[in-house]
Amino acid sequence: MIIQSITSSTTHIPLVKTFKTALRKVDAIDYILVKVNTNTGQIGIGGAVPSVVITGETVGSILAAIDFISTAIAGMDLNDREEVLETLNACMVGNSSAKAAVDMAIYDLAGKMSGQPLYGLLGGKQRHIETDMTIGIDTLSKMEKDTRETLDKGFSILKIKVGHDPDEDIERLKTISAAAGPHIALRLDANQGWTAKQALKVSDAIARHNINVQLMEQPVKAHDIKGMAFVSGRTDLPVFADESLFSPVDAQRIIDAGAADGFNIKLMKCGGIYNALKISAIAETAGIPCMIGSMMETVVSITAAAHLACAKRIIKYFDLDAPLFCNSRPVPGGISYDGARIQLSSSPGLGFENV
Ligand code: MG
Repeated sequence: MIIQSITSSTTHIPLVKTFKTALRKVDAIDYILVKVNTNTGQIGIGGAVPSVVITGETVGSILAAIDFISTAIAGMDLNDREEVLETLNACMVGNSSAKAAVDMAIYDLAGKMSGQPLYGLLGGKQRHIETDMTIGIDTLSKMEKDTRETLDKGFSILKIKVGHDPDEDIERLKTISAAAGPHIALRLDANQGWTAKQALKVSDAIARHNINVQLMEQPVKAHDIKGMAFVSGRTDLPVFADESLFSPVDAQRIIDAGAADGFNIKLMKCGGIYNALKISAIAETAGIPCMIGSMMETVVSITAAAHLACAKRIIKYFDLDAPLFCNSRPVPGGISYDGARIQLSSSPGLGFENV
């Protein structure tokens, strides 16, 4: 099967509610749907979203990068998938979300060629995947209300966005913990918002107030590997690297620095499934548990993430709630949600209908 061309289109998708983190506020996303067209008429589907404050990519840069990648891999044979994916990764530096969209479309085609769902091609099978639900950073009363509504919908794991003033964040956690009860696990995500010492101050308060926190994600700036190592060496909470972890090389550096206890893998950061598998292998070797997470994405790219999650047991935490914030889906098919539980299709590839 020969790659002929890659086409892309952009859809503006409003969110069902505003999403706020320490880094940004999002009301809508511009989602880029990618199709890898082949000589057999089979089409591979992928998707990307610009997260300019995290990956540096915009809609314009992603579309331009996809055109560049299209020129680089057009005419290549998908039976030599490694060669195609190495060329995709080597043809330009950066542009991880653009690469991820093309990468997942190639894996979609590989699944279709083998007649298997992608998780099967990757050696996995369907398993229980329960996503957390994110509570955006906001006023105490808004976060308390969001917590109650989310629990009423059947979610039992909450991801709490923090990373502003640490004293205010401690009040946020006390309020949410009181509303949720001690049996509900909280995943904290500071999105780089604290200094190392501020992170430890919050960690101490969590212990003092017996708040049920499962992990602390990206307490300090993405580049501050030393600061993250300082935090993870002095708190009992597992520290997970997110914005510090883009590539497999980053994963190895974080391990070498003893900077994190866990990895948050996102396809938009690492450039797709090919590199996510490399990060997973490094994590498996080092005994580092992984979360599969996402930007504010649609069901297209989250379906690829869910297939990966079914294939890699080292992925033990699932943060795949983003499609629940989107008020429409770009294409039919892919994953569906039963409350917090993600259901995968057993159709070949990613299971999208060709459109
Ligand atoms: Mg994060």
